[in-house]
Amino acid sequence: MKRALVCGAGGFIGGHLVKKLKREGYWVRGVDSKPHEFAPTQADAFRLLDLRDPQNCRTALTLSDGGSFDEVYQLAADMGGMGFISVSECEVLHNNALINIHMTHAAAEAGVARYFFSSSVCIYRDMQPDEPPVTEDDAIPANPDNEYGWEKLYAERVAMAYGRRHPMHVRIARFENCYGPEGTWTGGREKAPAALCRKVAEAEDHGTIEVWGEGTAIRVFTYVDDLVDGIFALMHSDLGDPVNLGREDRATVADLVRTVIEASGKRMTIKYVPGPVGVQARNFSKARIASLGWKPKVSLEEGIARTYSWIQAQVKVAQDSASRT
Ligand code: NAD
Repeated sequence: MKRALVCGAGGFIGGHLVKKLKREGYWVRGVDSKPHEFAPTQADAFRLLDLRDPQNCRTALTLSDGGSFDEVYQLAADMGGMGFISVSECEVLHNNALINIHMTHAAAEAGVARYFFSSSVCIYRDMQPDEPPVTEDDAIPANPDNEYGWEKLYAERVAMAYGRRHPMHVRIARFENCYGPEGTWTGGREKAPAALCRKVAEAEDHGTIEVWGEGTAIRVFTYVDDLVDGIFALMHSDLGDPVNLGREDRATVADLVRTVIEASGKRMTIKYVPGPVGVQARNFSKARIASLGWKPKVSLEEGIARTYSWIQAQVKVAQDSASRT
């Protein structure tokens, strides 16, 4: 039985990746600085460890039989949506660089065969809405829009250097916006799809919701089940260079808002207000990930319907508990 370590298993994508690896027949150890908030972990073992500490990285990688993990998936990061990233640049740079430096080093030292790093399309520069797609190689010369992107770019280079100097196969995916159930939906770190689902779920029918920006920013929104399938396919491929991971079809924030409102069945007024929006547009080639035969299965409409219904249930639990106190 193959053994995998998932770093960030108490988080959104890490939690779903653990489930995928269990379905694939792996023995899985999860590690995170906190337990999963929304679902009991399906990992065979789960350790609470702060991975900024190099000794904790070594502990996470130690197996009782003295062997090594076949695969390490590094998804631990101090991160959130634009509301968080725009004000937490020191924490993002400091904490994530420490996690990535120490975990990559410890994995190579422990003889791990395959190492996956979760990067982001935030490593790319801003784009015009009508620009043709850029490829993975166009990341350099670099001009990310925020410090989260700069740290990801640095961490990619750390992972690739260790891959060159050690017998460890390194695989890197640059995720586009990922959404789905069992992710952060309130508290300031939530990303746009979850924040919009929450706002609509909290609002009365015929009410008004506030949305940051003007609705024109263009993104790709990928459902979490499709994303973890892509991670798994990439990990077992020969693609040693970074790979963009997301759907082909792009949507504006206004499209996203419309899709959430449709899923709710409510009638709403949208008020666009100033707020941290990030880049204007994204358009990235998906030729590399498509070459592996990866195809997303869940449309934006279907994925948002599933996500809305999960967030609506969370909102109801929170409202019921507030009304009891
Ligand atoms: P998440 O915040 O839900 O998960 C990250 C997890 O890392 C959290 O559970 C957190 O507790 C853990 N963590 C943070 N600091 C830690 C530390 N010092 N030690 C141990 N664990 C620590 O985020 P996510 O959406 O699941 O993202 C997973 C990865 O994918 C991250 O690397 C993120 O940067 C990347 N990513 C996500 C998206 C997206 O749309 N969600 C897009 C691009 C890239």
